[in-house]
Amino acid sequence: MIPVTKPYLPNREAYEAYVKDIWQRGWLTNSGPLVNELEANLSTYLGIPNVLLLNNGTIALQIALKALDIKGEVITTPFSYVATTSSIAWEGSKPVFVDIDPETLNLDPNKIESAITPNTRAILATHVYGNPCDVEKIDAIAKKHNLKVIYDAAHAFGTMYKGKSLYAYGDISTASFHATKLFHTIEGGAVITENAALSAKMGLLRNFGHTSPYSFDGAGINGKTSEFHAAMGLLVLKDISQIIAKRKELSDRYTDKLAGTVVKRPVIFDKANTTYNYAYYPVLFPSEQILLQVMKDLEKHQIYSRRYFYPSLNTINYVDQVPCPVSEDICTRVLCLPLYFTLTIEELDMVTRVIKDTLSRN
Ligand SMILES: *Cc1c(COP(=O)(O)O)cnc(C)c1O
Repeated sequence: MIPVTKPYLPNREAYEAYVKDIWQRGWLTNSGPLVNELEANLSTYLGIPNVLLLNNGTIALQIALKALDIKGEVITTPFSYVATTSSIAWEGSKPVFVDIDPETLNLDPNKIESAITPNTRAILATHVYGNPCDVEKIDAIAKKHNLKVIYDAAHAFGTMYKGKSLYAYGDISTASFHATKLFHTIEGGAVITENAALSAKMGLLRNFGHTSPYSFDGAGINGKTSEFHAAMGLLVLKDISQIIAKRKELSDRYTDKLAGTVVKRPVIFDKANTTYNYAYYPVLFPSEQILLQVMKDLEKHQIYSRRYFYPSLNTINYVDQVPCPVSEDICTRVLCLPLYFTLTIEELDMVTRVIKDTLSRN
């Protein structure tokens, strides 16, 4: 069986050594030493001073919206995971969808301004598959109209843009460290910002608003993560360069093997200034019918791919449904192929053989 993804598992003895230490300390959660160590290590790795670990990437989006006092309309992308949209609605704001660029599959900056109204407060865009949004254009629009910018950077771990971590752009970047992501803490996430005051505010929000055991500043929530999750993160972070190198090698082989077919790929934004993280391997088929046939044929060989993303978020039942023709079209044709650290060359070649075989019959 070839799944679409497998969580990266570090050395088990090393994890057990951490567990032994946790047992000895008896300190399981609430800003324990491993959580603090992982925040410091991530801060160093990313080159950004303020990294706050959280229990997942959805809470990260909600805390980011709360910290920036966003209430009103939020311009966002229809081509993302549902949490990007649901977090806006959950925080009592209105998601306003702007279509995507047909090549990068990220929010199209040229379509943002016509969607701005007096009620617009923020732009929430996703760096889809780890491919950078046009951060400079988005920043210029936000400044001009006095809007906040949040990046759903759940896919962006390890991507660099213009010499900096992609997390360095916008007012706040949110990360997901879910088991299926490139870097993970089993469940987990983070809010990352270069603004120390904003980070301090989010620190309160993640811990019920506690300023001391018996005093509070504002309504917070429980966004804390545990020592066990941090231990996993410390070990995965140690191996991160190997993890990214392996994904690059596998992605390059997919590209070689699928060259000359009708399969298309998203285009990396500003390639000369981007160091990509190879978080996913999405492909675009000419039609939904071919995509469904490919999925079916892969499943006959016990190979599982994922329609990611599907459906287009402007079509779900709790939003104001406006047409986003590019996103709706891409959603019917995009498929993520298996990509994970232990995927072998032989398995990858089998995936591409099945795809090519299907294409030759359609
Ligand atoms: C995974 C993901 C999330 C949600 O993160 P969780 O840690 O699973 O809550 C949000 N947005 C995008 C784009 C994601 O891929």
